[in-house]
Amino acid sequence: MAAGRALLSSQNGLAAVAPLSSIGYRARGLASSLPLLRRRCPSAFVSSSARCCSRPHSEGAGERVMKPEKEEAFVLTTPLYYVNAPPHMGSAYTTIAADAIARFQRLLGKKVIFITGTDEHGEKIAAAAEASGRSPREHCDTISQSYRILWREVKFITIVVLIKEQVLYDASLSYGSNYLDIAYDKFIRTTDSKHEAIVKEFYSRVLNNGDIYRADYEGLYCVNCEEYKDEKELLENNCCPMHLKPCVRRKEDNYFFALSKYQKTLEDYLTSNPDFVKPLFRLNEVQGWIKSGLRDFSISRSSVEWGIPVPNDDKQTIYVWFDALLGYVSALLEEGEQTNLEQAVCSGWPASLHLIGKDILRFHAVYWPAMLLSAGLSVPNMVFGHGFLTKDGMKMGKSLGNTLEPKDLVQRFGADAVRYFFLREVEFGNDGDYSEDRFINIVNAHLANTIGNLLNRTLGLLKKNCQSMLAFDSIVSAEGNSFKDSVDQLVEKAKYHYENLSLSSACESVLDIANAGNLYMDERAPWSLFKQGGASSEMAAKASFETGYFHLCIQLDLVMILEVMRIIATALSPITPSLCSRIYSQLGFSKEQFEAATWDDTKWGGLKAGQIMAEPKPVFARIENIDDGNEVVQNKNKDKKKASRRQGLVEA
Ligand SMILES: [Zn+2]
Repeated sequence: MAAGRALLSSQNGLAAVAPLSSIGYRARGLASSLPLLRRRCPSAFVSSSARCCSRPHSEGAGERVMKPEKEEAFVLTTPLYYVNAPPHMGSAYTTIAADAIARFQRLLGKKVIFITGTDEHGEKIAAAAEASGRSPREHCDTISQSYRILWREVKFITIVVLIKEQVLYDASLSYGSNYLDIAYDKFIRTTDSKHEAIVKEFYSRVLNNGDIYRADYEGLYCVNCEEYKDEKELLENNCCPMHLKPCVRRKEDNYFFALSKYQKTLEDYLTSNPDFVKPLFRLNEVQGWIKSGLRDFSISRSSVEWGIPVPNDDKQTIYVWFDALLGYVSALLEEGEQTNLEQAVCSGWPASLHLIGKDILRFHAVYWPAMLLSAGLSVPNMVFGHGFLTKDGMKMGKSLGNTLEPKDLVQRFGADAVRYFFLREVEFGNDGDYSEDRFINIVNAHLANTIGNLLNRTLGLLKKNCQSMLAFDSIVSAEGNSFKDSVDQLVEKAKYHYENLSLSSACESVLDIANAGNLYMDERAPWSLFKQGGASSEMAAKASFETGYFHLCIQLDLVMILEVMRIIATALSPITPSLCSRIYSQLGFSKEQFEAATWDDTKWGGLKAGQIMAEPKPVFARIENIDDGNEVVQNKNKDKKKASRRQGLVEA
């Protein structure tokens, strides 16, 4: 699902010259073909599979609501990324956001199916493969693998990291990994055989519903967009405004999808389901498109060999979008399961959320629901279109030489920093900007200082004065203290923002907890109390009661702050999972305990008396700007290893 390709096609609206069978499909009428809306199992499926009925039926007041047989999964998707090139920052951004949402839903105790993958057919892929002297299949294997490697730890990287950990153990570089910590559940490739089977079955359903017809089309075609263009939108010499290359005149007879037939249904659907497209301003955009008139679009190509053949006509291949969108459905199939639509649908369709870039909104919010309705399948619950990223205020592009490579970023700064910056800095839904100075400032200020240092100095005090052991339950320490109430309120706020996909605000609320913690520490100044306690301990023989009292107060305060750190580590874990895991470990919890945490663990009371904290160790390395010789922040540890400097990472 290439961003560029999609952007331009949005004004395309292919007009068929002469629908060959228009009478046929129109005569069948609309009403009978459109009974199925979202969150409702297709009736054809209900009778044949009990599992289908696990989803509540929302329509019809008189309809008996069936009790779920099994837990309803939260199914969310990223676009399937187009493999003409390795992952860029735009695809990384969508995937990071999807991962944060998936992790939050898992914290809530939901069963989550997080789908991502690669879109591998089309003329452009075949051309890219040829240019690199590989077969299309080899090309797709390589590029698809580069996505998996960036998303998630793979075996050979584990070895490299382990070697690093051994060599650089003292430098705490266990976070110097090469992947973005994306915990996807399904990775679908459109060249998978199960996907091809699903596409063909889907095509046949739409055909049987009378929504596919054959027609001639002649127009200007951009090979890079893989789209026919509306001449009105082209630049001089018929240049594609995205690729700045002339379009070529092509004449093909293709199969068309009768999108126009769904105009009224989609209009009504959006009116009664305003949450279908988010944010709200994108819903308005979609409604505008529909209002201006939907035109049928071609769903096959006769000139493209690298694609799924049209059933019963192998001279044509299915158009990449009519192929790739089905990946959201085919991904649901488990290995070894029957490869058919019914099985896929029963494994989790409809999706709860499609997360996409704004450039492919038309495909997801107009074409896709119409296609699903035609095939008798439910419409997804929500399509969320996020904005674009710029760099230093400028659009990124290879020709401008200012692209942002996610692989480089994660190698230099680690997954936590990259994830945090983009989710915190960009208001989700709007456009956002990257600048390196801003990146370093934000990440250092929030993660190294506000969160990391608060934990580190508290653990230091506890170690020095209490042998790293908690003397009280955190619930006891908070009794009658309004500080706990403010933390509880901020946790509620964070949850609200996560639920509404306001990821930046969710980060902000969690950071506010840490700010409150720092303020509390500064006001209470336990280090000075310790001093007083120490001083008076010299007079302990005379005033042992006083000493004991100081110690009591201090210990209560330290327990409060460490409990706050535990809550932060739970609430921020969707955004910075690796950092939060290290915080848990500093608080004396195991990796398994971190992984078993739920949103309920943001409630006060997790730390118990007797819990022993780990040896204090910075959880997040301050980033040192070493390129310009002008350190952005003061490096407190000048004698750190050279290896860590190379990466621009030095411990705080
Ligand atoms: Zn183009």
